[in-house]
Amino acid sequence: MLPDTDALYASLEARDGRFDGLAFVCVKTTGIFCRLTCPARTPFRRNVEFRGSVAACQAAGFRACKRCRPDQAGLPSAGRVSVTAS
Ligand SMILES: [Zn+2]
Repeated sequence: MLPDTDALYASLEARDGRFDGLAFVCVKTTGIFCRLTCPARTPFRRNVEFRGSVAACQAAGFRACKRCRPDQAGLPSAGRVSVTAS
């Protein structure tokens, strides 16, 4: 059961990590899904859907974001994702 959409979107905008790992955001315009703490620009609310697992996002046809790597389990939470890729 996902938290309220308002709460999820607010957390996404703030990147506060409150729901990191509990919910993922699927961006309909790009076909990509992200962790709620993704450093990428926050998409418009009308363009996002929240899902409770990586599998659910992938089943809906979304691909994992290359910046926040939501498909890599066990990553530490927000703020510790190193940016080494060019
Ligand atoms: Zn991302």
